[in-house]
Amino acid sequence: MPNYKTHLLVSLILSLSLFFVFYYYKKLTLSQLIFLPYILFLGIIPDIDTKKSLARKMMNIGFLSSILILFGMFYILLEIKYLIIITIFSIIILFIYKLPHRGMTHNLLFGLLMTFFLFFISPYLFIISYISFLSHLAFDKII
Ligand SMILES: [Zn+2]
Repeated sequence: MPNYKTHLLVSLILSLSLFFVFYYYKKLTLSQLIFLPYILFLGIIPDIDTKKSLARKMMNIGFLSSILILFGMFYILLEIKYLIIITIFSIIILFIYKLPHRGMTHNLLFGLLMTFFLFFISPYLFIISYISFLSHLAFDKII
């Protein structure tokens, strides 16, 4: 089973290569490199269903900081919508904690769910991000 460094390296090589091919043909601009961290994250996100993965650690940090901010907003503004958002967040996180390894997150549909919004920014960004996601699935099968 390849670790996150392998997935990140493969994702980086593929993403940058494709990015500069599309840039050469004037389909993307250099400013769109701002999406690179997210595209690289897509290379490791399928392992979010593994306890010790980098993706899970990043999700936990993001979740905890979001909950703290939302509780702060609720404390200051006393609006119930923040509690509803916290509840929805918590249910999603608990659902992810219960996922079996290489289950739903190692699925082509999950990849589409995580990348489809990039299609509205640029179809080429969508292609790069989906290939980054697919590289994870391919390397999980190969190695
Ligand atoms: Zn995996």
